[in-house]
Amino acid sequence: MKTRTTRAVLITVTGALILSLTAGCENSATGPNEMVDNGSWYRTGYHWPHDGNPYESANVIVFSDAASLESRQKLAEITESLVTTLVEDFEIDPATMFKWPPGQTKLHVYAYRDHFVDWFGGKGYYGGFMMYSLDHPIRNTELGNYTRVVTHELMHAFEGLMKGTENPKIVDVWLTEGIAEHVSGGTSSSGNVTTLAMLDSLVAVYGDVNPISMHYYEDFPYMDLGYAYLYAMFELSVRYLLDADGLGRPKALVRDLLVEAGDGALFATSFEEKFGLGLQQFEDEYWDRIRAFVK
Ligand SMILES: [Zn+2]
Repeated sequence: MKTRTTRAVLITVTGALILSLTAGCENSATGPNEMVDNGSWYRTGYHWPHDGNPYESANVIVFSDAASLESRQKLAEITESLVTTLVEDFEIDPATMFKWPPGQTKLHVYAYRDHFVDWFGGKGYYGGFMMYSLDHPIRNTELGNYTRVVTHELMHAFEGLMKGTENPKIVDVWLTEGIAEHVSGGTSSSGNVTTLAMLDSLVAVYGDVNPISMHYYEDFPYMDLGYAYLYAMFELSVRYLLDADGLGRPKALVRDLLVEAGDGALFATSFEEKFGLGLQQFEDEYWDRIRAFVK
């Protein structure tokens, strides 16, 4: 687990938490005069200029510092395909359910080629995501993983659009990261927990921190737990809600939860209403329910 590639995969799944850790050590981008010092991703704290030549497709605009046209086109293509999938899976009507940031009508993707950051991966935000370009010199060369990371970050972008805000506190972090991990097929280093043996070995290493007790990013006891344990457990928790062997609820309920959170509904209230299970009850009965689910 010490290779750069593995680290990249681990780190891509995090959001605001990583941002706070790396904010002090990133390099400010320097480019030629024609670089545009602006972009929706600046709102996340990353002031990375783009070259003023974005590639635009039906639903996506790919900005970049220096990625090739081919890399931009390919990323737009991957994203367009995933947009279609997520819209279908969650039964989203973008015209009525997406609340775009002012002045924005398409997803913004910032594909970075010349940044070498500790969190070598992606970062989703309200209305878009940042992603290493396909021609990034040190990126993971496996397209399968690339697509999983894009899916994870795109889900965060979708969540923001359904909520109509960047605010991570109106939806519990276990659901935010769990749904992103679930739709992506999993980017956590531990992989998806599908058997009782896997669950037991994970708990043996990291302890039995209850994922449903993690409401905010700030609740993570320490970072390694987040990367290797919690993201896998968040995915498992969301899978329990959706899978026929668990509660078997449709993804459209997650959609409703996100839309209503943006309209001011309290997460705990909304969760209980949608899933017929109290949030505190889910936490209290967590291990019994989950162990019965994966066995
Ligand atoms: Zn994430």
